[in-house]
Amino acid sequence: MRLLNRILAMGLMVLAGTAAAHAITGEKAEFRKLADDVYAYVGKLNDANAMVVVTNQGVVLVDTGNNQPDTRDLAEKIKSVTDQPVRWIVITQNHGDHFGGSPYFQPGATLLVHDRVAKDLAAMQPFQIKSWRKRFPERTASLDKLKPSDMMMSFSDRMTLNLGGKRIELIYVDDTYNPGDVAVWLPDSGVMHASFAGYKDRHPDIRPDYSHGTTVGMLKQLEAYLALKPKIVVPAHGPVGDIRDLQAMVDYLLLGRQKVRVMMEKGMDLPAIIKDFNMNEFKGWDRGSHFEWMAETIHRELNGQGPQKVELVEASAKGTLGEIKEDGRYFGFRTDDGKDLRLRVASDTNIEGVADRTKLRTGMKGTASYLIPKNFNPALGYDIMEITVAP
Ligand SMILES: [Zn+2]
Repeated sequence: MRLLNRILAMGLMVLAGTAAAHAITGEKAEFRKLADDVYAYVGKLNDANAMVVVTNQGVVLVDTGNNQPDTRDLAEKIKSVTDQPVRWIVITQNHGDHFGGSPYFQPGATLLVHDRVAKDLAAMQPFQIKSWRKRFPERTASLDKLKPSDMMMSFSDRMTLNLGGKRIELIYVDDTYNPGDVAVWLPDSGVMHASFAGYKDRHPDIRPDYSHGTTVGMLKQLEAYLALKPKIVVPAHGPVGDIRDLQAMVDYLLLGRQKVRVMMEKGMDLPAIIKDFNMNEFKGWDRGSHFEWMAETIHRELNGQGPQKVELVEASAKGTLGEIKEDGRYFGFRTDDGKDLRLRVASDTNIEGVADRTKLRTGMKGTASYLIPKNFNPALGYDIMEITVAP
């Protein structure tokens, strides 16, 4: 066993060495032709990627750009290669950086999602729907009275689109905790968008609440994707790659699980495991900040535990905005009764009083409603549902 470990570690060191050389995408998004009528939109600095398939029955868009400027840029890039409208939007994972650009193309485009994502979208709360309609001011009027679930089709296992002679396969690999991740496979050109499981040069963002799936689920997905032998792989984040990147992620996940397992066998408790856990064999990969949650997630999985249930309590307060960070993504908030809070603007936060989070300023007065997790470290601050500010 020890020998096997050493061989595995040596193989990984070689892999990690090659990965370090191209760990992150450029400072500008790139629109790259991958095959006839197939393009990748490679997000800047490892932001979310998108894929575009042009057919004479409309464009199939796979994910929608990391944020508003990227979505507009992506729409321009599509126009530069075709007059066809975007008719279909495949959502590979239901997170703001993949789904958030959808209102830019709607109504007109139909969302194609897994049943589990359809259920989540149908359960969107009024503040989330309001925020979705307002995401692009130039689109808000056309989305009046509409919500994402008014324009979607969903499937439970696989769906194949045949559009203008092109075959586009949507693949879901079942697992108890797969939140509805979908890969997109183009058998004619050998191009694959590998969904959440297909990270490249970036530590995956798995969490103890299993909101991003589990290592077991990812391994099942990767096994199914590898069997198709893709020539070109578009990952959820990171540079366009190939089948070797899928194999690297398998190695990564197996090594991560093995590390936690060894520490558990030594009798270490969870805080000690979290403290010691690292994936240093993959030096140069982006997002080392994911290690704590990764160790905890693998620990739960190996113990046969289900997802951590995070109990959220709604609260609201009047107060004044303090220091603003990252273009309004985070800010301090001094409540009128003298408490200091740290608040976070999520992709579905509804903001009233200014156009978007970049217009929030220190000293503005406002009312915020937010969510307090009762049994979970709110490392990034409390997520805001709605905030109304006056200058
Ligand atoms: Zn993402």
